[in-house]
Amino acid sequence: MLDHSQSNELFDRAQNLMPGGVSSPVRAFRAVGGQPLFIERGEGATIYDVDGNRYIDYVLSWGPLILGHAHPDIVSALQQTAAKGSSYGAPSPLEIELAELIMSFISSIEMLRFVNSGTEATMSVLRLARAFSGRSKIIKFIGNYHGHADMLLVQAGSGVATLGLPDSPGVPAATVSDTLSAVYNDADSVARLFERFPDQIAAVIVEPVAGNMGLVPPVDGFLQSLRDLTESYNALLIFDEVMTGFRVHPGGAQTLYGIRPDLTALGKVIGGGLPVGAYGGRREIMEMVAPLGSMYQAGTLSGNPLAMAAGIATLKGLQTPGIWEGFETHGNQLLNGLNDIAASANIPVVSNRIGSMFGMFFSEQAVTDWDSAKTANTERFSRYFNLMLDNGIYLAPSQFEAGFLSTRHGSGEIATTLAAAEYAFSRI
Ligand SMILES: *Cc1c(COP(=O)(O)O)cnc(C)c1O
Repeated sequence: MLDHSQSNELFDRAQNLMPGGVSSPVRAFRAVGGQPLFIERGEGATIYDVDGNRYIDYVLSWGPLILGHAHPDIVSALQQTAAKGSSYGAPSPLEIELAELIMSFISSIEMLRFVNSGTEATMSVLRLARAFSGRSKIIKFIGNYHGHADMLLVQAGSGVATLGLPDSPGVPAATVSDTLSAVYNDADSVARLFERFPDQIAAVIVEPVAGNMGLVPPVDGFLQSLRDLTESYNALLIFDEVMTGFRVHPGGAQTLYGIRPDLTALGKVIGGGLPVGAYGGRREIMEMVAPLGSMYQAGTLSGNPLAMAAGIATLKGLQTPGIWEGFETHGNQLLNGLNDIAASANIPVVSNRIGSMFGMFFSEQAVTDWDSAKTANTERFSRYFNLMLDNGIYLAPSQFEAGFLSTRHGSGEIATTLAAAEYAFSRI
């Protein structure tokens, strides 16, 4: 066993100061029966805890760090920007640069607004969809997570699921009374809601590749059906690409699957590890946002220069030739390796990878939605997680989270990971 004494000591102090000792629930390791590690620093694919242990990191701050920890270009962009002041509350050229970069990758975004988190992006984009359509109801999918805004905290996937909370107390029934839930990968469940409320649904919001109930890809035709249904009922289609944006494909899931949503929410990678989000889409809809239009939405630190600088450095880094081929090569090495190891150990797994996102369920049956995802063996996952951790591999501490690769995860890191997996699978 690795020595975690410093982490444990800090966790004792933290628990007295912050609920569960953490600033976000899943970090507390409750689903895997351990105590969280306190991290001292990260470099490339590696993180170091306060006890001096090192781990290959597949969490990457829950997705943003696609170029790895402390990438020299991001560090120097931050240093140069910080030296000029960290925020002005006035426009800066960096916003234009990042907006143009984002639009060069994602063509459905004709105009956008920067915010400070993915939660703000989805909350704001739904306000906009309701304002534009003059309708109140929204459809979301069971097991999809869109941040913690009240109206979206219904059947919301990993974090909530991990803690076994059906919904959250403190969310008034009235707030979610216009939130309709459908079954992921089941277009008929969406069609039924449209038949029932033909003139009342403002928008369908979806994770085009679900990443918050483990990794669950869309089945053939599912996203196209959502596009067709929203079009025929005059509702808007919103892709929540906070996680999938710049992860499953340079142009997001919408480019990968060839579906043009009306609006898109972004976050995570576009901030390169700093707090950021954005929403954007069709020009005529975005023109409703204040001050151009009447839909109010604002933010003291929105478009923050440091966040913009980190985002620009990240998206520029993603233009380096060979990067996406690298995700294919190393992603295949990792997933093929894990599948082989699981097969020789006679342990059923369902694994998936799309671009730099991957997932593995300890399950015998196909996983297409939240009901099938939650049949996965969480006790086996806990044993696997802890054995991997003890062998220097840092995975997300829940079966129902996606894993992430960075450009710094090379064949060496994958080989080390597979050696640890060999050991773990022989003991779970
Ligand atoms: C992470 C995430 C969010 C919320 O983003 P925060 O920055 O944590 O508020 C929203 N939607 C999806 C799909 C996410 O993965």
